[in-house]
Amino acid sequence: MPAKEDLDPNTVSRTHKAADGAHSGEPQYRLCDPQLDVPDGYIRLSGDLERDSIVNGPGLRAVLWVQGCRQHCPGCQNPETWTEDPTIGVTVPIEKVKDELRKLKGQTGITFCGGEPMLQAKALLDIARFCKKELGWNVWSFTGLVYERIPRDTVAWELVKELDALIDGPFILSQRDLTMKFRGSRNQRILHLNNGEIESIE
Ligand code: SF4
Repeated sequence: MPAKEDLDPNTVSRTHKAADGAHSGEPQYRLCDPQLDVPDGYIRLSGDLERDSIVNGPGLRAVLWVQGCRQHCPGCQNPETWTEDPTIGVTVPIEKVKDELRKLKGQTGITFCGGEPMLQAKALLDIARFCKKELGWNVWSFTGLVYERIPRDTVAWELVKELDALIDGPFILSQRDLTMKFRGSRNQRILHLNNGEIESIE
């Protein structure tokens, strides 16, 4: 029997029942559907666009920090990104983000961080396609959702199908491991993807 919060996508839980490291179970609608309430053509960011990052994927990378997360992992390093209050963070036109990305030189890819990228998958899908087709970058994303539990009938899954890699799973304090590449806890996996299918796992 799924927990009530899994049945009601409008419920925003402050507990963390999904943080079990299990790679099966009920779809995690509440974490990505409905999407964050942002006007069409806009994205809400929690921080400045970063460049030349070497800690969020391979090579030199742009990093987009998005606002909003319903997972609420104990020990999260960015709890200020949880709120969906429209007065927190900065809501910007997607076209402006693309203009900023166009100006960056020497980047091999982009990584979506947060916050929860799947909560703004509609906007990030547009940006991911732009980065791949116009800039020739590879596209990675973090998510607190578990790959197998991402609902396949959502825009979040459409975003997954555009990604070259997904680092999945919530941060679990009891499994914290600071020696892992690009990840904070041992349950999290680097999934290399092709059209949403797993090609390899790190
Ligand atoms: S999924 Fe990430 S941003 Fe969200 S609470 Fe967990 S660690 Fe924080």
